[in-house]
Amino acid sequence: MKKILISTLLLMTALWGWSAQQTRWVKGNTHTHTNRSDGDEYPQRVARWYQDHGYHFLVITDHDMITPTLALDADGNRDDFIVIPGDEISLTFEKRQAHVCALNPKRLPVAQAGASMSETLQNAVDGAQQAGALPVINHPNRKWSINAEDIRALRGVHHFEVFNLQRESNNFSAGGRMGGEELWDTLLSDGMAIFGVISEDTHDFLGEFLPGRDHPGKGWLVVRVIELTPQAVCAALEKGDFYASTGVELADVQITDKEYRLVIKPYYDTAYTTQFIGKNGAILKQDFGLEAAYAFKGDELYVRAKVFSSGGELALCQPVFIKK
Ligand SMILES: [Zn+2]
Ligand SMILES: [Zn+2]
Repeated sequence: MKKILISTLLLMTALWGWSAQQTRWVKGNTHTHTNRSDGDEYPQRVARWYQDHGYHFLVITDHDMITPTLALDADGNRDDFIVIPGDEISLTFEKRQAHVCALNPKRLPVAQAGASMSETLQNAVDGAQQAGALPVINHPNRKWSINAEDIRALRGVHHFEVFNLQRESNNFSAGGRMGGEELWDTLLSDGMAIFGVISEDTHDFLGEFLPGRDHPGKGWLVVRVIELTPQAVCAALEKGDFYASTGVELADVQITDKEYRLVIKPYYDTAYTTQFIGKNGAILKQDFGLEAAYAFKGDELYVRAKVFSSGGELALCQPVFIKK
């Protein structure tokens, strides 16, 4: 029932987006630290970096606190930028990390570790929800902390970081270990309605720009909103009306009851491949070029789209849940 509901919501949003024309795409990062916790820069300067580099929204998610965001977006000349409050609920279970970002909480979430990793994550998710926030499960493969079984058992959460751009996050499948996309396809194939987020988990705004430091600008979300408010951004995230990117930009994503279609913005002479991916990670169709489309057959369970470029960048579009 939940799957059908979400797919219907997404479809309605997509159709409204094209017919009403009052929606627009906005770019933002959902996971950022400042020197209020273990980041190295003042909140004002962190916000200013994102404001000056083409982002429209930023969620500040210091560990186990809500960094005040009021007035952080009043700086500068642009009025199309907002800072959304957040909190990275940072629990541990047997030295494994159970970190959950709470986006736009009304008050500080309260959560404690449980008797298992799954229970610990559930406590964090419940804490986020009770504080009125949207929960996102963070960096599952950091310290190889969270596996598919831990996530599969959860209630009330529909977002996880498929990629977290800190160097220790183990985003890709290698060495017999399951990377973020493989984990995503495992959960989706089990029937879980879960969307994939790419976040920067930014900490480092000062000093050298070197591999292994958590600098800004590596990856983001592009969200389709009616207006630029924290509520509208979170509502679009809840519906899955967004894509995640490490550099590939899309001109648009169009989903109807018949097909999944997307258009890529060109960058110089970069070449692009789009894969439409279904149950168990199967590649259902592959297109080259700036336009790609997949006609639904009706028995896929889910269809998601992935674009990757000759420049090594990618975009991950959200799954559409196919009802039988
Ligand atoms: Zn974390
Ligand atoms: Zn973090």
